[in-house]
This record gives sequence, structure tokens and C-alpha cells, in this order.
Amino acid sequence: MKVILSSQMRRELQTLVAQPVAWEVPLAAHTSLRIGGPAEALVTVEDCAELASVLSFARRQAVPWRLLGKGSNVLVADDGLAGITLMLGGGFRRLEKIGDREVAAGAASVLPALSRFCQENGLSGLEFAAGIPGSVGGAVVMNAGAFGGQIAAWVSALELCGEDGPRMLPASELRFAYRAWLDAEKWRGQVAITGVHFILRQDDPAAIAARMEEYQRARRLGQPHGATSAGSFFKNPPGDSAGRLIDTCGLKGLRVGDAMVSPAHANFLVNIGQATAADVRELARLVREAVHRRHGVDLEQEVEEW
Ligand SMILES: Cc1cc2nc3c(=O)[nH]c(=O)nc-3n(C[C@H](O)[C@H](O)[C@H](O)COP(=O)(O)OP(=O)(O)OC[C@H]3O[C@@H](n4cnc5c(N)ncnc54)[C@H](O)[C@@H]3O)c2cc1C
Repeated sequence: MKVILSSQMRRELQTLVAQPVAWEVPLAAHTSLRIGGPAEALVTVEDCAELASVLSFARRQAVPWRLLGKGSNVLVADDGLAGITLMLGGGFRRLEKIGDREVAAGAASVLPALSRFCQENGLSGLEFAAGIPGSVGGAVVMNAGAFGGQIAAWVSALELCGEDGPRMLPASELRFAYRAWLDAEKWRGQVAITGVHFILRQDDPAAIAARMEEYQRARRLGQPHGATSAGSFFKNPPGDSAGRLIDTCGLKGLRVGDAMVSPAHANFLVNIGQATAADVRELARLVREAVHRRHGVDLEQEVEEW
């Protein structure tokens, strides 16, 4: 890993946040694939003021930064990440009902907790998210979805925080596509999502719970149970399923090192032991190549490479 932060910069960075900065800790512990080399500085911020001061420091010192949510959609390089890897702490985990149909969620709260909170409050819409292990912030960036639902359909506003402090972005200024927040690039490097507001539909809590259970059952049947993965590795091409295309190439069980195409779901690349990012990248290349050869389809990766 390239080192960017001098010891003086490290001392200054630590003065900006209450939590101890973790230096050169392996990110494998913070990703669902259990893969990833060290982060030069892993910085946890607890409020927008801390976040703003770290972003200002990063700009002044020309230090690159990234924001890691639950790490359930990223493949982190074996060499690790130079600069600052930010995480949102417990201060960003609030779940709050506002009025009849609105819910405000801190960006670090996780989708299963949000989904359950909505169910308990008789608010329907986010049942599909009960089994997605990401953070609310990460779910917006990826426009997470399942069973015909997607986050974008329910978001009414984003709370953002940058160097200048907090700001709100209404839904009218948000553009989403399949598994993508189209404005993510515009904001990347400037702000983090710190909270998300949803307007939901009122419904009977028991009916909502039944739908959640049905989705969970479908997930248990169709996806590798307890496997170490980043969920679906490739996006579904229009009108088709990446899993079906990979499966018909006979690739279930294909391995590179400890990275394997899951025998339970061909679009899940799983780490069955000590897989490296290089193993996963090579396996993904083989899968893409085989699908292109057999079906003439170029699979687009859903999982982000860091
Ligand atoms: C077992 C399993 C099942 C899954 N099932 C599904 C599914 O059904 N549907 C689906 O869509 N996905 C699924 N996923 C993928 C993943 O959970 C989602 O994409 C999730 O939304 C990613 O959230 P995260 O917090 O883990 O984001 P990360 O992986 O940490 O980050 C993803 C991107 O979001 C950015 N980001 C994260 N938080 C913020 C923030 N607060 N502000 C700004 N940028 C941020 C990161 O910088 C990065 O660019 C699954 C994953 C697993 C492991």
C-alpha cells in the first residue's frame, strides 16, 4: 500500500475526530466478501461537523478519501487503500417516524433494521429490503432493489454533508436507474449521504410482516445460505438474468483459488476460504468471457472495485 499521510498529517487527522483513527487495518474485516488489504487510515465520524472537518482536511492536504458503508457491494484491492477510508458511526443510525407516512433513517442504519422499523409502524414499501445487508446510504448509491422493488421508488429526500456542512436534496433533484444513483459521480469526493427520508404507504403491520417473510423465504431458497459474497456480482442485462446466463454456460462451481461461482446461485461469486481480490477479479473475467462467447452478452459488474 502506498503511504500518503505523513506523521504530522496523521496527528492532525486524529485531532479532528473523537474516535481513535485505525491505521493500516485490513479492510477484509469490513467487507462482506472478507477480502481487502489495509486502509491507510480508517476514520469513523460521529456527526456532520466531524465529517466536514475531515473532508476539509482531505482537500487541503490533497488526500483521497472514500466512504465505506457496510462493505456489502465492494471488492477491495489486496494492496489496500491509500488515504482516508471513512465510516459513519453510531451517530448516523437513527430511525425516526415523522408524521403519518415519513421515515428518516441515518445513512449508517442497515436495511433489515429499517425494513423492520417500517413494518412495526405500519408503513409499507421497503419489505423487499429486509434481506439486503447494506447500509441505507449504500442502498441509495446502488439503488438497491429486489423482488420488483427498489429504494429509489420511496426516497423523498437525502441529507448530505460536505465541507460546508449539511444540506438537503429533494427527490426532484435525484436521478436513479437500475442499480445506480446517476448523480453519484457528481457528488463523489464532495459529500457523503448522512440520512435518507422516505415517504411510504400505510398498511396493516401483519400484512407487511407476511410479505417480508415471503421475500425472506424466497431468498433462503434461491441464494447461497451463509456464503461469503457481495450478493449479485453482475447486473441483470435488460430482459434477462445474469444468473441464468452464467448457469447455462455451466459455470457453477468454477474456481480460481478460493473464489468460486456459487453452486446455489450462479451470479454469486463467493469466497470459500482465503480468496484474494485478484482471484475474484480473474474469476469474474472468466465468467464475462464465457457469457460473451456463448450468449454475445457483455455482463456489467454490479460490485464496485476499490
Ligand atoms: C448476501 C447479500 C445479498 C444481497 N442482496 C442484494 C439485493 O437483493 N439487492 C441489491 O440491490 N443488493 C444486494 N446486495 C448488495 C448490497 O447489499 C447492496 O448494494 C447495498 O445497498 C450496499 O450497501 P453498503 O452499505 O454495503 O455499501 P458499500 O458496499 O459499503 O458501498 C457501496 C457504494 O456506496 C457508497 N456509499 C456507501 N455509503 C455511503 C454514504 N453514506 N454516502 C455516500 N456514499 C456511500 C460507497 O462509497 C460505494 O461507492 C447483497 C449483498 C449481499 C452480501
